[in-house]
Formats: sequence, structure tokens, C-alpha cells
Amino acid sequence: MSLLETRSITMKFGGLTAVGDVSMKVKPSRLHALIGPNGAGKSTLINVISGFYRPTSGSLLFEGQEVQGRGSAQLSHLGISRTFQNLRLFRNLTVMENILIGLHNQIDVSFLPSLLRTSGHRAAEREAMETAEAMLNEVGLREFRDRPARTLPYGKQKWLEVARSLVSRPKLLLLDEPAAGLNATESEELEQFIRTLPDKGVTVLLIEHDMRLVMSLAERITVLNFGRVIAEGTPQEVRDDPTVIEAYLGK
Ligand code: ADP
Ligand code: MG
Repeated sequence: MSLLETRSITMKFGGLTAVGDVSMKVKPSRLHALIGPNGAGKSTLINVISGFYRPTSGSLLFEGQEVQGRGSAQLSHLGISRTFQNLRLFRNLTVMENILIGLHNQIDVSFLPSLLRTSGHRAAEREAMETAEAMLNEVGLREFRDRPARTLPYGKQKWLEVARSLVSRPKLLLLDEPAAGLNATESEELEQFIRTLPDKGVTVLLIEHDMRLVMSLAERITVLNFGRVIAEGTPQEVRDDPTVIEAYLGK
């Protein structure tokens, strides 16, 4: 069974069809990439899958269950998490606080300040703190724990966005251009990290412009152009597909 399936998803903005009739399946524990030229509809599709946009038509199945029409909070509760192409961190909150917000399904984040100050929390809160601390270590942000997010170098902010989306241990993680703006070393580190996710039970749908990274990471690739699926297959199949080459060369 597919973890995620979209059936004929269409998303129109006025007269513009940003996503047109897209059907795709993502299998569990896979690294699946979504690629395509600028404006192809990739981010829009992610926005639909994560419940930020309500599609014009089509349906969305998660673990075989119809979830179209549910909002982002409900979908996140079911185990769909995401990052944003343009970072959406709470810039004035600390790194630790930003990560804890990723656990909003498990704790009441309105208690954030007291959570960080007091000792002797209840079990659920203690567990949330421990989970967040472990995540800090996992992504190498320990030394930045108490700094406001805005003071971090850009590369670290990207990691923080990943950490926040991952701390709830989602079943499906949607990554919208996680490597954009990273230098070669940072990008390499991120690649190694993403590679480990399926073994930890996190299925990844990755949007990425860096073709080297996509070809090295993805097991399957769906290619969009002008909102439509123009190819689907293994990296090898997609790379050799004349339609894909044409789309990228802009002919
Ligand atoms: P990609 O992520 O593949 O670069 P997008 O999904 O961001 O592409 O955009 C697909 C198309 O939809 C583009 O033509 C873009 O201008 C348009 N678009 C995206 N979001 C909106 C919106 N909120 N309102 C109107 N048009 C949008
Ligand atoms: Mg985009």
C-alpha cells in the first residue's frame, strides 16, 4: 500500500492551473523526489498535501484513508510534517523553543516559557523536553540551544527548520528545497542525514533543485512541468527521458 496517494489533484489560482490532474503514489519508507522547473507547481502540491491549500478538485489518501479537506493541524496529527521553501521560524524564539513548537501535538506550547524555566514538569512535558534535546544533538544545534533563531547563520536556520519538522517523528516528511542556499559542505551533511530517515520510519518527499543531490538520494522521482506530471520513475529512467530533458532545457 502507498503511504500517500494523490488522485487527480488540481489546484487553480484564478485562471492559472498551478497543479493539474496530478496523480502520484509514495510508498512507505522511501525517498521520493518531486522535481521540475521553476513554477512547475511543486510547492503548491506540497501545500495541498500538507493541508495548507484546499485543492480545486481531486483526492488525497494517507495510509489508504481519504484525508482531503482536512486542515494542516489535523494532517500533522496524522503524521504529515513539512518544511517551507522560505523559512518560517519564530525568529525571536530560541532554537530550543522552535523545536518544542514542533511538538505542539504533544504539549501545550502556550506554556513554553514556563516549560523552559521550571523544573519538576509533568511526565509528558519532561518527555517532550528530552525529545527536543535529543533532536538538538541529532542535527548539531546543541551549542545554539538558547540563542534566538534569527541570530543563527542561514545554514543553521535551515537545519532548525528540518529539526522542528522532524521532532514529532512524522510518518511523512515533505522537504521543500532543504539544500537551497547551503554551501557544499552543509549540503553534503544534509544529504547524509536525509539518507538515514527512511530507516528511522520517516518517508521523505523531497523537492530539490540540486540534481546531484536528487539523483543520489531518490529511489523514485516524479517530474512536474506546468503543473502536470510529465515523467515518473527511477533516477536513471527520469534522467534519460527526452520529455524531462526538454522541460529542463526549456524548449
Ligand atoms: P514551484 O514550487 O514548482 O517553483 P509553485 O508551486 O510555487 O512552483 O508555483 C506554481 C505556479 O503557481 C506558479 O505559476 C506560481 O506563480 C503560481 N502560484 C503559486 N502560489 C500561488 C498563489 N498563492 N497565488 C497565485 N499563484 C500562485
Ligand atoms: Mg517551490
